[in-house]
Amino acid sequence: MNQLQLFQFPYLSDNYGFLLHDEETGETAAIDCGDAESYLQALDSTSWKLTEIWITHHHWDHTQGLEEVKAKTGCKVRGPEEKAKAIAGLDEKFWDGDKFTFAGREVQVISTPGHTTDMINFYLPSEGKLFSGDTLFTLGCGRLFEGTPQMMWEGLQKLMALPVETLVYGSHEYTLANAKFALSVDKENEMLHARSVEFIEMREKGEATVPTTLELELATNPFLRAGDGSIRKALNLQDASDAAVFAEIRKRKDNF
Ligand code: ZN
Ligand code: FE
Repeated sequence: MNQLQLFQFPYLSDNYGFLLHDEETGETAAIDCGDAESYLQALDSTSWKLTEIWITHHHWDHTQGLEEVKAKTGCKVRGPEEKAKAIAGLDEKFWDGDKFTFAGREVQVISTPGHTTDMINFYLPSEGKLFSGDTLFTLGCGRLFEGTPQMMWEGLQKLMALPVETLVYGSHEYTLANAKFALSVDKENEMLHARSVEFIEMREKGEATVPTTLELELATNPFLRAGDGSIRKALNLQDASDAAVFAEIRKRKDNF
C-alpha cells in the first residue's frame, strides 16, 4: 500500500494544521479545524477534496472553522465523546480503543484526558504517524486545563508504548519555549542540548520543529522522563512515584 500524502501548514499564531490524502481513493482528512480560511486555503493549494475532519478536543483553536468547512465541503466530522463541553458539528464520536477506517487504513483512537477531559489522539499504524493534538508536543506536553496530573501521566504512558519510530505531530509550535524549560530540569542531557541548538537554527530559518519522533522525545522530553534518575535527583524526588514527578515537572513549567 502506498504512503498517505501529508500537507502541514501553520495557522493562527502557533498552530499546525494537517491534511492526509490518499491518491488512490481521493480521500482527504483534516486534523482539527481551528480556522476555516487557513484550512480552505490548504485544500485549495493541494487541490485535494476534503472528505473528513478529525477533531482532537473542544478548544476553539482546534474547532472554530469546523462548521464553515463542513458546510462548504460536505465532509464528515469525527471527534471525541462529549466530556466537559459539546463540539457542534460532530457526526461520529470516539473514545479510547475505538477504531475507524480511512482510505483502507486503520486509525486507532487513544484518549489522553489531561489538557482537556475530551482529548483524543489519532494513531495510524500503517503510516507510523500519531496526531497528538495538545497532549504531546516536541519537548513538551499540554497544560492541564481540565484533568489532573495523574490522568495526563496515564495518557502519556499510552503514547510512550507506541513504536519508538512513530512520527509525532503535535498541534503547536511551542518548541523553543519548551526547550528552555526542559534544560532547566534536565541540564546534563547532551542530546537535549544538541536538539535545542538545532531547533534555534530551524526556527531562524522558519522551519517547523513538528513532527518529532517518539524515540527522540523519550530521550529529551522531560514530561516523558519522570522515571529518569538524573531528573529525579535534580528535583529532589528520588523516592516519589513517576506520576508525582510528572506533576512536579508540569507545575514547574506552569510557573516557568
Ligand atoms: Zn487545546
Ligand atoms: Fe491548542
